[in-house]
Amino acid sequence: MAGSMSFGTRVRMLLVPLLLWQIPAAVASSSSTAAETYDYIVVGGGTAGLALSTRLSQLLPNRSIAVLEAGPAAPHSTNILIPGLKGSNLQGPHDWNLTTVPQARLDGRSVTQPRGRVLGGSTALNLMVWDRAAAAEYDVWAQPAFGDDAGWGWESLYDAMLRAENFTRPEEAGVYGDEGVAYGGPVQTVINRYVPEQQLAFVPTMVNLGAPLNLESLDGNPLGAGRQPSTLRPSDYSRSYATAYLPLAGSNVDVLTEATVATVLFEDEKNSDGELVASGVTLADGSVIKARAEVILSAGSLKSPQILESSGIGNSSILSAAGIQTLLELPGVGENLQDHVKVQSVYRLKANYSSFDRIRYDAAYAAQQLDLWYLNETSAYDYTGSTIAFLTWSQVAGANTSFVPSLLNSTAVHSAIDKAKLSFLNESTNAPALELLFSDGYFGAASYPAANSSLYGANFFTLIAGVQHLFSTGSVHVDAAAPSPATAAPRIDPRYLEHPYDAAALREAAKYLRRVAATPPLNTFVEAEYEPGLEVQTDEQWDEYVRQAVSTLFHPTGTCAMMDRAIGGVVDGRLRVHGTANLRVVDASVIPVQISAHIQTAVYGIAERAARLVAGS
Ligand SMILES: Cc1cc2nc3c(=O)[nH]c(=O)nc-3n(C[C@H](O)[C@H](O)[C@H](O)COP(=O)(O)OP(=O)(O)OC[C@H]3O[C@@H](n4cnc5c(N)ncnc54)[C@H](O)[C@@H]3O)c2cc1C
Repeated sequence: MAGSMSFGTRVRMLLVPLLLWQIPAAVASSSSTAAETYDYIVVGGGTAGLALSTRLSQLLPNRSIAVLEAGPAAPHSTNILIPGLKGSNLQGPHDWNLTTVPQARLDGRSVTQPRGRVLGGSTALNLMVWDRAAAAEYDVWAQPAFGDDAGWGWESLYDAMLRAENFTRPEEAGVYGDEGVAYGGPVQTVINRYVPEQQLAFVPTMVNLGAPLNLESLDGNPLGAGRQPSTLRPSDYSRSYATAYLPLAGSNVDVLTEATVATVLFEDEKNSDGELVASGVTLADGSVIKARAEVILSAGSLKSPQILESSGIGNSSILSAAGIQTLLELPGVGENLQDHVKVQSVYRLKANYSSFDRIRYDAAYAAQQLDLWYLNETSAYDYTGSTIAFLTWSQVAGANTSFVPSLLNSTAVHSAIDKAKLSFLNESTNAPALELLFSDGYFGAASYPAANSSLYGANFFTLIAGVQHLFSTGSVHVDAAAPSPATAAPRIDPRYLEHPYDAAALREAAKYLRRVAATPPLNTFVEAEYEPGLEVQTDEQWDEYVRQAVSTLFHPTGTCAMMDRAIGGVVDGRLRVHGTANLRVVDASVIPVQISAHIQTAVYGIAERAARLVAGS
């Protein structure tokens, strides 16, 4: 048979075993192998869950830890490991396949909400951008309204984020400086070796538009344009994700996959402080695993609130509608949902250039590039979106930002969260208002031209704009109408664009993308604007385009906010659920105020910090 195989097939068969290192040693395939009792139960083997449990096992070598993950381990999934296949994970077998309820301001459109349902969680699906927000944005977490006196803030979180990372310096000079990166951590980061020609034009274009060149964008001042790290292993250019922690874990950790947690169990009696005492969890199959010390939810922003509510913690009117008995009234559970949204424009390249789209329409090229990837040679399959600009409004040349002062003077801004976001519009904080990301190939709101259309075989690039601090706040709750609210998909309502700032900001952002594409040197690659198309000119037309094109930038936060209970917080500064003795939440849901960055670095940092908080208590 081997004689009839193509060269490429043989290369892949030979090299797949090299990827098997990714199998984490401590993983068991099913909850049937679980012990009955552990000291700590961590619910969710995702980004935070694997980082937290690994560090806990190192800090507490004599305590037993169970990680319960709903999805499979999937260590050999090439869709996860090969960067150029990342898009295939969305709505694939390792995605929870969640979606929002119809969004009133998007003409009733629902928006998909990808989330990893696999060991490694959303870092198995994500787009591998590794960046950070401005220092002032993390400092806010130390305010009394949020993390208070538990040591949060840029300095401690930066230190924690750096513990997650091992940066490999690029051989190429002048693409990244010295600050903002670290060495020796489990998650591998590199400056991607593969950058299409048209993408290399993005940074000089932004500089021509007045953005500073920033070669140390992860050091607490992200403003400017530059190339940023991606979470890739330099040795084989496969994805480096949260499973990279597991080889560091001790034998005191059991990672149990395909184990979906339905509820947290509590002792019958509250403790002497009147707090609920967690005693374990029930799984969806009805089995019970007990916890001697703590239960820690790391199920992510869209699932941790659901587990709390299913366990009787939340807003009693929501719980009773779902037939759940309230054990602890905590109305902030599932509220304060803040998600980044993006809008994009797509440009057709001149005929002599090609883009990532060639993988779609040229099978021979795709096979050749895949072989190069397996041979660990520079390949289109290395591709990650790694060229970014972060801007304040005054750096967005030509934007009509008259909506900003009216927002600053608005009397409708009351909450501690909104006040913090308003403070970031003060540009002395260095907090960006807008992110622009170059994405090679078609990544628009509709779809790549159909095989029978005249533009099939055309090559595109996409400019993505994400507004960083949005004032629309949504919620995620158990779906009272579902037969089994604990395990059904939650009801997600981000209320996209309900605040006028968000709609105006996205409109100006979308308009600015056209300006970027028309600026040299990027404009020398452009044949024509493909989406939205030059017929879109007036503000009304841009607003309509935004309503059709806007979607998530995949960063839901805030649904179990680390915040004072009196103002809707769910966890305290030590990440303990208010009103409980030993139930914590450690994941993206505790981030109280959304940050101007992709959030995986923050989530790893939260987990790193949390391990010390838990071990120290
Ligand atoms: C498509 C996509 C692209 C993204 N791109 C980037 C990017 O480029 N850069 C960046 O910084 N960030 C990016 N993000 C965001 C970032 O990856 C996530 O915000 C972060 O990984 C979330 O970490 P978490 O620990 O909160 O949740 P997750 O990593 O999602 O982990 C939650 C885990 O809990 C499990 N779980 C849930 N419910 C249960 C249950 N009931 N029982 C047992 N287990 C359960 C899940 O299966 C999952 O494994 C992206 C996210 C997505 C989805």
